[in-house]
Amino acid sequence: MDSAVERALRTRIISWVQNQAEANGGYLRRDELLGFRIDDQKLPIIDYSRGIRNPAAFESTLSIVSATHGPYDDTESEDGLLHYAYRDGDPWSGDNRKLRNAMATGAPLILFRKEVPNIYTPVAPVYVVEDYPEDRTFIIALDESFGLVQDIKNMPEPEREYARRLAKQRLHQPAFRTRVLVAYETRCAVCELRYGSLLDAAHIVPDSDELGVPTVNNGLALCKIHHAAYDQNMLGITPDFQVRIANELLEGIDGPMLKHGLQEMHGRSIQLPTRRADRPSSEFLAWRHERFGKVTSTQC
Ligand SMILES: [Zn+2]
Repeated sequence: MDSAVERALRTRIISWVQNQAEANGGYLRRDELLGFRIDDQKLPIIDYSRGIRNPAAFESTLSIVSATHGPYDDTESEDGLLHYAYRDGDPWSGDNRKLRNAMATGAPLILFRKEVPNIYTPVAPVYVVEDYPEDRTFIIALDESFGLVQDIKNMPEPEREYARRLAKQRLHQPAFRTRVLVAYETRCAVCELRYGSLLDAAHIVPDSDELGVPTVNNGLALCKIHHAAYDQNMLGITPDFQVRIANELLEGIDGPMLKHGLQEMHGRSIQLPTRRADRPSSEFLAWRHERFGKVTSTQC
């Protein structure tokens, strides 16, 4: 395939993946990725069994899968770059050759984080920026500018800090959203809205706090309005999972959103994940509810 054609196709695939993930709530299902078609041609975006997708007609890798607890020996490092192990076999041919070609040509690829079976969180575009044959490892970065860093193993601190910040925004936050939304079956815990593109994963204890870990038991799937209301302490959730609406809002007079979307939520129980381990920690809820109580005197 002509390299300009391949690049154009790659750009279209990446934007399809981003749009589809956004519509779903930040992730794609395995069947959507395997059944993908473009210009009436079937073109699976992942290779389910191998963790790297090298379409025969492509000169460079299209996607890689990073399974956090899976069979692939790839690890995310402290420096915010992904250390991706060579595939088995000859380091100079096959899969490894196409990854190396992505580095040489600067071709963007898609990284899929697989944290839940059959559910993939896309991170795209990413770039292969370094090859360490002695460690049988490629370095994958979230920004092509890392390709210009002379010595990536001994990166200066400003670049390192930038890489860590990018990793938080583009790897860790989307992965958290997927884990939380999947645990809540892609539905707002307060109002049960089921439109993934209108749902967020809210932190119970904010991630700016030391306690604010990105685990599902510190998360709540909330629609955009309930997320904003929660963050503004206009909506609280008690440690025993009851919704509280701040007095100021309960007494307000406004249109249907205030009445049905907020006032009528007061006193409801939130929808909980089926798996006990995914349910919000009452310790985290208590921490947060104390702050809600400080700005509003709730009617219990
Ligand atoms: Zn809601």
